[in-house]
Amino acid sequence: MSYVKRKTEVAEAPSDFSSGNCYASGCALRGSVSLDGGGRWFCSHHAWAEPKHWPGITAGLREHDWMSGLIGDIRKLLGEGKRREAVEFSREFWAEYPDMQPNDHEAVHVEAYVYRLHLDLQHRAGALEKKPAPMRPQRESWKSSRAQLSQEIVQ
Ligand SMILES: [Zn+2]
Repeated sequence: MSYVKRKTEVAEAPSDFSSGNCYASGCALRGSVSLDGGGRWFCSHHAWAEPKHWPGITAGLREHDWMSGLIGDIRKLLGEGKRREAVEFSREFWAEYPDMQPNDHEAVHVEAYVYRLHLDLQHRAGALEKKPAPMRPQRESWKSSRAQLSQEIVQ
C-alpha cells in the first residue's frame, strides 16, 4: 500500500460545497479559511486541524452549537451598535460562570471578548488544547512577558 493511497482513504467526503459550508464533513459552519489557495474552504476550527481530528471537532461543534448561537447573538448586538447590551447579555448568560463573563477590559473591548469566546468554543470542540484566559490589555501582557523575560535572562 502506498502512502498516497492511505492518505486518500483518510480523507473525508466533502460537505455540500455549493452551500459555502466548511469542507470538513458534516460541519455546518461557513468555510472562511483556505490554506490551499481557495481549493478547499474550512471554518477556523477545522482549518488547522489534522484530517483525522475533523470528525471529533465536528461532533464537538455540534455539541456546543448553543455557544455558536451565543457568539452570533453578541456579534449581532455589536453590529447594531449595542455594545452595553452585548456586555449585559453576556454577563447574564454566564451568571453562574463568572470566569466566562467579560472582564473590565473585555467589557470595553467587546471584540476581544468575542474572540475569547471563539477560542473557548474551539477549546470545547477539541480543536484547541488550552482553554483561553480572559483577555487583558496589551500593555499588561507586554509588561508580564517583559518581566518574565528579564527573569529568564537573570537566571
Ligand atoms: Zn468546520
